[in-house]
Amino acid sequence: MARINNNFIKLQSRYLFSEIGKRTKEFMEKNPKVQVIKLGIGDTTQPLPPAIIKAFHEGVDEMASKETYKGYGPEQGYDFLRDAIVKHDFAARGADIKADEIFISDGSKCDTGNILEIFGTNKIAISDPSYPVYVDTNVMAGNTGPVMKNGQYEGLVYLPCKPVNDWSPPLPKGHVDLIYLVSPNNPTGTAIHKKQLEAWVKYALDNKAIIFFDAAYERYITEQDIPHSIFEIKGARECAIEFRSYSKTAGFTGVRCAFTVITNDLKGYDEKDNVVSIHDLWNRRHTTKFNGVSYPVQKAAAAMYTTDGAKQIDEVIAYYKQNATLIKDGFAKAGFTCYGGTNSPYVWVKTPGKLTSWEFFDVMLSKLHIVGTPGSGFGPSGEGYFRFTGFNSREKTMDAIDRVAKFSWKGL
Ligand code: PLP
Repeated sequence: MARINNNFIKLQSRYLFSEIGKRTKEFMEKNPKVQVIKLGIGDTTQPLPPAIIKAFHEGVDEMASKETYKGYGPEQGYDFLRDAIVKHDFAARGADIKADEIFISDGSKCDTGNILEIFGTNKIAISDPSYPVYVDTNVMAGNTGPVMKNGQYEGLVYLPCKPVNDWSPPLPKGHVDLIYLVSPNNPTGTAIHKKQLEAWVKYALDNKAIIFFDAAYERYITEQDIPHSIFEIKGARECAIEFRSYSKTAGFTGVRCAFTVITNDLKGYDEKDNVVSIHDLWNRRHTTKFNGVSYPVQKAAAAMYTTDGAKQIDEVIAYYKQNATLIKDGFAKAGFTCYGGTNSPYVWVKTPGKLTSWEFFDVMLSKLHIVGTPGSGFGPSGEGYFRFTGFNSREKTMDAIDRVAKFSWKGL
């Protein structure tokens, strides 16, 4: 009899996006003439800019000639990309990271999940609300009990993010070993300030804990006081792993390229409390189970560090962010309390009155014909909130905001 991994049974079904799809489809079938606007898109929509496409093509062309053909590449990534990352993403911000501490991969979703493989039994804290992959992969790895009535999984420490601290996760009351931080956050669109991140690094060092710092939206940061990398903070080399992705920063959601930074100073402990290098463990795992990202894709990724590439990418990000600003201002004008948007493509809106996230979803869909994402789908602390994104076109975003402005919100 083939036994399965029972932890998968504990997972709650992928309720959020399937339910959004189901309700939207039903509404559109019943109302075929109505134009529904999707402001819940969690994917990039603008084409790759010319400098990236050119490098991508060059990479493909090199495969066509005997002299420049490439077979298996280094699993950790080509030097030209790792060196560019060191120079532009870290040294330029005063962060001391070496090329051999960077592992190129095909996505932060995979890396944030797979990283658990090299860790044992730990007390794990996760920002709530946040990217659902953190909780789900811990459930799959057997790091939790079943889900409880309050929507939390037994055994995990939830760090409830609240409006009072602008949705920044609070330090845990007791000891934890692994901590998931994400800045700027998906779904709240808010970011962790330097002082707060310093407090987290101190906590991690004091507790011999490791912070998983997900910086997937780093390039959306505009405020001065927000670190782009945890390695801008003193001491982080000894207590943090950073996940970076080109998905939302360079439109690589369909191309696939990301990287994870693990310094040579990061230590874990075996069952006899001997010190073990986390870098070496991950290197072992990565080289055994991963074949590296394709050469043309790494060429394309490296192009975003050229003058033209960087400028063109910044223009695309400015476009999404301008959409987010329009959404935030539009809802604020209509009397809503809004967060995020400033350092992020995401706007986080308080539902009116006592409406739950799903009740507000139904109002938005049935009355305004706008689709967004219920905040409760990102963790229990997201209940009563709603996520909109700046990834739709300018035209559709403005149309949606016009509907918000014209709607009579009284009585909700
Ligand atoms: N981390 C966060 C916070 C995200 O929101 C996402 C994608 O939505 C990812 C990671 C996934 O990135 P990738 O496309 O590199 O797997």
